[in-house]
Amino acid sequence: MTAASAGADLVQVALPVPLRQLFDYRVPAGTMVPEPGCRVRVPFGRRTLTGVVLARTARSDLPPERLKNLAAIVDRQPLLAPADLAMLTWIADYYLHPVGEVCAAALPVLLRGDKPPREAEDRRWHLTTAGRERLAAGAGRAPLQFRLLAALAENDAGLDAAALRLLSPRWRTALDALVRDDCVAMAPLPEAYRGLREDPPAATPGQAEAIAAIGQSHGFRCHLVHGITGSGKTEIYLRCIERVLAQGRQCLVLVPEIALTPQLESRFRNRFDAVIDVLHSGLTETQRLQAWQRAAGGRSAVVIGTRSAVFVPLARPGLVILDEEHDPSYKQQEGFRYHARDVAIKRASLAGIPVVLGSATPSLESYHNALQGRFQLTQLHERPTRAGLPAVHLLDLAHLPVEHGISRPLRDAIGACRARGEQSLLFLNRRGFAPAIYCPACGWLAHCPRCDARLTWHRAADRLRCHHCGHVGSRPRQCPQCGEPEVISLGQGTENIHDTLQQLFPGAVIERIDRDTTRRRGELEQRLTRVHAGEAEILVGTQMLSKGHDFPGVTLVGIVDCDQLLFSADFRASERLFQLVTQVAGRCGRAERPGTVLIQTRFPQSPWLQPVIRHDYAAFADMALAERQAADYPPYTHLALLRAEAAGRNVALAFLEAMHRLAQELAVTTPSVEVMEPLPSLMEKRAGRYRAQLLVQSRQRAPLHQFLARWRGAIEASRRSRTVRWSLDVDPVDLY
Ligand SMILES: [Zn+2]
Ligand SMILES: [Zn+2]
Repeated sequence: MTAASAGADLVQVALPVPLRQLFDYRVPAGTMVPEPGCRVRVPFGRRTLTGVVLARTARSDLPPERLKNLAAIVDRQPLLAPADLAMLTWIADYYLHPVGEVCAAALPVLLRGDKPPREAEDRRWHLTTAGRERLAAGAGRAPLQFRLLAALAENDAGLDAAALRLLSPRWRTALDALVRDDCVAMAPLPEAYRGLREDPPAATPGQAEAIAAIGQSHGFRCHLVHGITGSGKTEIYLRCIERVLAQGRQCLVLVPEIALTPQLESRFRNRFDAVIDVLHSGLTETQRLQAWQRAAGGRSAVVIGTRSAVFVPLARPGLVILDEEHDPSYKQQEGFRYHARDVAIKRASLAGIPVVLGSATPSLESYHNALQGRFQLTQLHERPTRAGLPAVHLLDLAHLPVEHGISRPLRDAIGACRARGEQSLLFLNRRGFAPAIYCPACGWLAHCPRCDARLTWHRAADRLRCHHCGHVGSRPRQCPQCGEPEVISLGQGTENIHDTLQQLFPGAVIERIDRDTTRRRGELEQRLTRVHAGEAEILVGTQMLSKGHDFPGVTLVGIVDCDQLLFSADFRASERLFQLVTQVAGRCGRAERPGTVLIQTRFPQSPWLQPVIRHDYAAFADMALAERQAADYPPYTHLALLRAEAAGRNVALAFLEAMHRLAQELAVTTPSVEVMEPLPSLMEKRAGRYRAQLLVQSRQRAPLHQFLARWRGAIEASRRSRTVRWSLDVDPVDLY
């Protein structure tokens, strides 16, 4: 802290308001000027808000009479370091999002208010020799102090604040008095990293090459580790982390889904004697705050977490790892629409440290960056277990006997698999029983009243559900249009496949894993445990099964229907198809036994299925990149999408037409930016609101961002923007 000089000191504060600017405040004369990264309380309109100081400054654009004084300074020490603030400022600029909301997203909930940070709860106190003597001398005039001494005497490892609080709400005063008298001392905190618990296994040549390449990078470098499923990418991570921890630095490890953290965490704990924090949704806010403080204070060695953990500050950052980098869940789809991969790369570059992206099916963006030499590519073509990749065969649904979605060869293969005592896995990316309810007499289809979408019949719950807005209805007894006494269900969902399998294989133990069967906390873990224990003979599930879980007992994978992805309007559909099928197929044949993958399709001649059969990522990527280049899609162009929705039909579209005119005026000065015509969204009505979108693209990033900043300012200033709900998505993943 520095002393204020004659009241001329100003600070620029990021406030949690939907405005993309900083707010200047005067530091009252005689008050210490807060450092950047400290929270302050400031008057804002009629309210008082808590914000984060981003910078000090000597002058403001505001006339002096309009400058207000800070109301209070919350933190004496900055919560966020200059590197963190630089990252958050970059994110706010890049995603055109209010910097105050970005800062709030980066802080744990308990630090978003005006409470000073609580003392690190992992501190422990223990008894000193003087304390033992005082205890032996008896209670005297301070009974609470005596109780604390007695409790501490029973716990050699010491007690933390939570334990002491249980003794009395007034524990703190009594403890302070005991600390002053040297009767109690604070126990030293555990070292963040204490060493290895086990010797690492010998690395394969491919692993060794990747480990060496990553270890040789000094400063920032982005590494893409493309390894086939089961090639041991985690071992590469562990070895790189080991080197960074030995240097006394910290690692951040990001995974797409929380259900993956237990298996990763146990591998980390088996390898490292270290403070490892896992940030997941099961934590209380207090636990989250503690983990955040340990990371920011340098007291943890490794932080594992999902998307939002990318913001956790590290006192001594050494390495960032992003596993399954292709996973779409790294992109936040609502509100503050950032992509954790791109934030992680920027973060590593600002910190001057390497970042490792790993995947068996890299995103085309990352692979393209590797081909261009911007990322360093390492490829692993072998599994350390020497288990071969599964053989993949196509089953032509048009020419095979099919019963309730299961073709005869698939049925026979499941039966043979059972007879050998092995597990099979069936993948279908559609939950529920049937995706359509239909009247055979008049052709009526059950539609969601609030969306342009069909309702799915969930038979166990006997409900019709909309998978887009959550609408729930009951199945009509007769056709509401023509009165036909019986309506029928069409198509298959996971519930239906489960039933069919149960009929085909009476007595088989079948585990279904989808959003319906894993709604309650811990349910997914329980089901996975049953699968691992070998209790389940057949697994049926949605894309939740594609997310990197290991199922060593599975030797047969059946893809029930891949055709919906072959003919999707989404330009990323072929990429998703390759990723999904490869990832699901990769669950198979992990141990010594080779596996088989059977893909059911009506279009076995599709060129997109050939690289899938041959496990040929490079061939797939060449084909897909050529298509993207021809169509001017990412990674050859950069996109931004303005979305709008409103309760009235055509209101959103009319708004976008006005914004389109505004954009064309602005784009005159940035000719490299192309502004498309506004269109109704593919699913125009959703949750009772009409939606439309407007795409902007450019081959160059810089002019696009100059344009977007000006355009967004003009949109915010326009009156029309108040008639709709709108958002601007930079690098959108979902265009439909
Ligand atoms: Zn009818
Ligand atoms: Zn709906």
